[in-house]
Amino acid sequence: MTKKCPECKTKMFAGKTSIHFQRNNFYADVENVEAFICPNCGTRSIPGNVAKEVSKTVENLFNTTTKKPVFSGLCFHKVLT
Ligand SMILES: [Zn+2]
Repeated sequence: MTKKCPECKTKMFAGKTSIHFQRNNFYADVENVEAFICPNCGTRSIPGNVAKEVSKTVENLFNTTTKKPVFSGLCFHKVLT
């Protein structure tokens, strides 16, 4: 599976990245997200299905904290074994 960078047309490679979400006073960092990364300019491209899953999860968390926040930020990451 290959993909070309939308910015500089360099062949991107599959790797891991982190995504930062912010909503009002809350933030969420999701780490080790599967993505395509451009070795030339650093552009990251997250596959549609992955982006959808991640944003859905984070949206749910933001939604549950809008009324009575018990935390202001969180990190999501896969434990490396
Ligand atoms: Zn690029």
